[in-house]
Amino acid sequence: MCIRIFYRSANLEQRFDRATAASNTISKNIHSPHIAVYDNQMHEKELYEARLLGDMDKALEEHQFMVVFQPKYDITTDTPRLCSAEVLIRWKHPEFGFVRPDSFMPLFEENGRIKELDRYVWREAAKQLKRWKDLYGTAVPISVNVSRVDIYDPDLVDYLKQIIAENNISASELHLEITETAYTDSVTQIKGVVEGLRNEGFMVEMDDFGKGYSSLNMLTSLPIDALKLDMAFITDIAENNKEMSMVEFVLEIARFLGVPVIAEGVESASQYLLLKKAGCDIIQGYYFSKPVSATEFGHLIEKSRMAAR
Ligand code: C2E
Ligand code: CA
Ligand code: CA
Repeated sequence: MCIRIFYRSANLEQRFDRATAASNTISKNIHSPHIAVYDNQMHEKELYEARLLGDMDKALEEHQFMVVFQPKYDITTDTPRLCSAEVLIRWKHPEFGFVRPDSFMPLFEENGRIKELDRYVWREAAKQLKRWKDLYGTAVPISVNVSRVDIYDPDLVDYLKQIIAENNISASELHLEITETAYTDSVTQIKGVVEGLRNEGFMVEMDDFGKGYSSLNMLTSLPIDALKLDMAFITDIAENNKEMSMVEFVLEIARFLGVPVIAEGVESASQYLLLKKAGCDIIQGYYFSKPVSATEFGHLIEKSRMAAR
């Protein structure tokens, strides 16, 4: 393996980091090239990421982080019914404009500061839920993302309890999405934490299901309230029978576990119809709606309340 370091002004530590970054781009495939260059593009990325990390405190202070809501629809009845929303973070950066979470969440996960950001999102979400309830007399439960790092936070349950108490909402209205890979990281740890959360009335959804490597044995012993299928499963179901068979297989597992299945990343009518026919319970995706602002989601709550009358 040969690694070329581009920037001679860098100190030894920086050179090492850059060499590592370059070597990480080398595929494990023996037929792929075994040479990587730390080039300008990688340098720009490094500077951008360092800038995002450096800007976090100011962004929190100045409320540059905001939350959006992506509706989830129950499709088990004839007409799809609004049943929840996933809370997603957005960063309105003064210089870079809207920054997608995929560009900054992994960075904050690496340096451990994702915990602060997650807590910020949970607080904003709970406050917003309370506002809708005051405004419309009703709302729908919403789900927030819980990072792997949070699972190791001894104050997790107490912090969530405090948020719901402060906002006078119930635990069953705040669903928690925990990625499947957190379950496969440390089964004993996650089982204890999830049991603690469920004992307090929080609903736990296993997010990105299919991305990790849960064994059937592990699944049957896990405490969860819903399985959320990873988007990668959905992308090709309309074109590829094998992909659809995989989804049907997951639906069978969920039926066996007695939990509903949420499919995310549903973009077309054909995907929606196939999932409905196969017995999928809940759908989230651009087909129904992209993530929307709190005001727009409020209108959806109101519309759904009118339709139910
Ligand atoms: P995720 O939890 O799997 O969230 C779903 C992502 O899929 C969201 O991207 C959503 O906008 C996108 N999406 C939804 N429907 C469709 C669709 O039909 N087609 C396509 N192509 N995409 C769709 P987003 O908001 O960019 O979030 C990306 C990831 O960032 C999330 O994946 C989650 O892992 C993380 N994230 C976002 N907000 C938070 C947060 O508040 N806390 C934590 N810990 N992670 C977050
Ligand atoms: Ca999620
Ligand atoms: Ca997901």
